[in-house]
Amino acid sequence: MVLLSLDIDGTLEVGDPPGWIPLELIRRAQSLGYIVGSSSDRVVSDQQRLWAQHEIEMDFVGHKHKLDEIKQRFPKATRLIHIGDGDADHIYAVKHGFEFHWVHEVPEAGSPGWIF
Ligand SMILES: [Mg+2]
Repeated sequence: MVLLSLDIDGTLEVGDPPGWIPLELIRRAQSLGYIVGSSSDRVVSDQQRLWAQHEIEMDFVGHKHKLDEIKQRFPKATRLIHIGDGDADHIYAVKHGFEFHWVHEVPEAGSPGWIF
């Protein structure tokens, strides 16, 4: 099972600043049964407010420097992916055993080995 973790600011279209990833990607991932959530520097309540505002029910909301806690919460996840735009995203993803993709280098749908 795929677990997809997303940074918000600079990564998602609703971030500040906005990033490349549309909310549609979240809905698509959830429709495929993937575990999807946000791992940001924002406080959890702020992230929850954002998702409520956009009527998206995330499977988790957490912090990028605590991706290990996310991993522990979902032991059924066999593939862990984090997408972000900053060095901290890269560093913590790799440190905690996630595949990392820079937001501007996310594979196109249909690319071999990609999750879409
Ligand atoms: Mg960011």
